[in-house]
Amino acid sequence: MSSTARPPVIAAPSPAEETAVEFARNLARDVLGPGAADAEARQELPRPVMSRLGAEGLTGMTLPKSAGGAGLSHVASLAVFDALAYGDMAVAFALLCQNSAARSIWLRGTTAQHERWLPGLLSAKDIGAYAITEPTAGSDPGSMETLATRSDGGWTLDGVKTLISNVPLASTLVLSAKTNADAGTRGMSAFIVSADAAGVDGVPLRLHGSRALPVGQLTLRGVRVPGDAVLGAEGEGFKIALDAVNWARTVWAALAAGVAQASLDGAIAYVREREQFGRKIADFQAVQFQLAELATDVETARLHGYRAAALFDADDPAQIGAAAMAKLTAGEVAVRVTSKALELLGGVGYVVPSPLERYLRQARMAQLADGTGNIQRLVIARSLG
Ligand SMILES: Cc1cc2nc3c(=O)[nH]c(=O)nc-3n(C[C@H](O)[C@H](O)[C@H](O)COP(=O)(O)OP(=O)(O)OC[C@H]3O[C@@H](n4cnc5c(N)ncnc54)[C@H](O)[C@@H]3O)c2cc1C
Repeated sequence: MSSTARPPVIAAPSPAEETAVEFARNLARDVLGPGAADAEARQELPRPVMSRLGAEGLTGMTLPKSAGGAGLSHVASLAVFDALAYGDMAVAFALLCQNSAARSIWLRGTTAQHERWLPGLLSAKDIGAYAITEPTAGSDPGSMETLATRSDGGWTLDGVKTLISNVPLASTLVLSAKTNADAGTRGMSAFIVSADAAGVDGVPLRLHGSRALPVGQLTLRGVRVPGDAVLGAEGEGFKIALDAVNWARTVWAALAAGVAQASLDGAIAYVREREQFGRKIADFQAVQFQLAELATDVETARLHGYRAAALFDADDPAQIGAAAMAKLTAGEVAVRVTSKALELLGGVGYVVPSPLERYLRQARMAQLADGTGNIQRLVIARSLG
């Protein structure tokens, strides 16, 4: 039986985990949603919000509470991301990157690396980034050119990483580099690098949407790091990166569901008030059918995410194909729902600062970061066995 023919695995947050989801819902309603337009206009990640998330352990959602995390299952963490993305998807994605850095260090790091890097990341005193993409290596990370060469018991890093979320704000960088240029993906290793190290330079890029999310280009010129900067074993960088990416693809389903739900709710509120042809436009069955389809889309993204997250919780290898399905669905649903919801507002949906136009620009990102739709199709096809 192929992995996709298994019965769906669905789980829900436990009552204890619901507290974290409730916190996220309240933060989205009271702080993230009301502040989103301003954060976008200033192109600034709201640091106080990141600190509040850190204080709740949500910078390390799946890390145990004893390590400073929130101790959530992967399934419950999706509900948290969904709730946060309802308020501001850009901040929710920045938090995902923070989580990716902390989670990788927690899963693959030594005790000394935990002690050195996790307190700053979990408190959000330090912002984290996970850097894989390069100007000539996007969908094909095995072709990356950043090199790590041995020198004086440590390593020297040279290369360029681009489109890296949380850069240049991030002070803790988890990045992939080739320690053996001739060994393809098996020659990649993961490094933990302080952005303060000499030779590290980050410059911001300007985005189409999600502008509260810092995204930048990172140049590494003769950056000297100690031997213990390697995360996991030498040569394991691709495996470590893939685990982070698979997890991020799963979370994308929740981010997409959150922003799409916000968009749908905006459209529903509008059509119930707006009158044309002497009736509320919500009374037209054509409009009701559109809303029904959009609501079904949102739940489809959500269910794909929960299924993949449940497979993560069960440490089931089917998580890889499921994560790619979640991400493919997330990208398509996010863009379709936010676009159709905007249309239901007529012309006013297109006028800045309508939140609906912001949701649509944010949603486009769901088709790009952590792999485009075609790359998800590639992974799904391979997972069919
Ligand atoms: C807002 C944002 C944030 C990001 N954050 C991060 C981050 O934090 N860390 C990080 O490392 N990266 C990050 N990225 C980079 C992202 O992962 C890449 O943009 C993505 O993987 C695609 O790579 P690329 O842009 O080089 O496109 P390319 O790989 O050049 O692809 C271009 C087009 O070709 C298609 N294509 C490529 N190969 C194939 C194939 N084999 N079959 C069919 N079609 C193919 C793609 O689908 C795409 O449409 C971010 C990107 C964005 C937009």
